[in-house]
Amino acid sequence: MYAKFCVTRDTASSFMRLFQNRRAYCIQSSRPLPNGSFPYYLARDWRTKEPKPLDEGAVRMHLNGDITVSLYAINPETQRSKWVAIDADFEGAVEALFRLQWELKEDGVQAALEQSRRGGHLWIFGAEPLLASECRIYVYNLALRLGVPVKGGGLKEGIEVFPRQDRLDDGEYGNAIRAPLGVHRKTERRYWFYDADLTPGAQLAYLDGLKKLTESELKSFVQGMSLPEAYKPPPPVPYIPSARNSRDEFRILDFVRTTHKDSRNWWARCPSCAQAGRDRSGDNLAIQIRNPRFYKCWAGCSKEEIRAALGRPIRKRVSV
Ligand SMILES: [Zn+2]
Repeated sequence: MYAKFCVTRDTASSFMRLFQNRRAYCIQSSRPLPNGSFPYYLARDWRTKEPKPLDEGAVRMHLNGDITVSLYAINPETQRSKWVAIDADFEGAVEALFRLQWELKEDGVQAALEQSRRGGHLWIFGAEPLLASECRIYVYNLALRLGVPVKGGGLKEGIEVFPRQDRLDDGEYGNAIRAPLGVHRKTERRYWFYDADLTPGAQLAYLDGLKKLTESELKSFVQGMSLPEAYKPPPPVPYIPSARNSRDEFRILDFVRTTHKDSRNWWARCPSCAQAGRDRSGDNLAIQIRNPRFYKCWAGCSKEEIRAALGRPIRKRVSV
């Protein structure tokens, strides 16, 4: 079981100063899905259904251990992030993060290492919000120089860098990462930063004291560099209906109203969940933007159940 705290407003506001860069955030479910994972849902006002802004009250509950929040990196109005988090959960992850931390120190960048369920998160804080694209160029090139594997570009295992996108379009959220110093609902444990005492106050004082990366330093580090070729996002592919039976083809997007989109998916209320009175926040169903023929309910409804709920059951092929 984890320790409960009762943090001060000062502690909550230093957390906000360090970590909050956009208003929307997610809350981790306290109950697992059938597959055992504890998903995060966008925090919404229960009346208006609009995304709720992260405020001091929610931050205090997170630090005290009552709820667990995750944070988005990029503010779409500025395309900037206040922090970079490097997530590693593969074999040898912690050693790789220590090497990155050491190499960053050689550049004069103080990074803080947080433990995680299967590895760690290495955090770099900006003296001011930094361009997401430049943060990514810096960390990708640093990792490749050190021979630290980076996920994507053909590699299944490796570090993941938050911000995960160079920029966001309107209505996109990007990817969220579990906010430090809270309780992970799956393990019911807190994961702390090395190098500070194990209370939210002491940990935040340690993070406050780190030297922050300035925009001009970052610009000088990435001068003449770009994102390694293998990791550049693929150009968007227009949706082409299949030539065969295209007139009768089932298109999920004709049947559901999407609530928002991120870099990969449209999100909508899952019709099968809706039938059971679930998914009130309207974001269980992910529909791939590149190819909307692929969709998936994160609460575990099958394709057959979704199609049946829409009155368009999947026709069984009869072998003759
Ligand atoms: Zn569903």
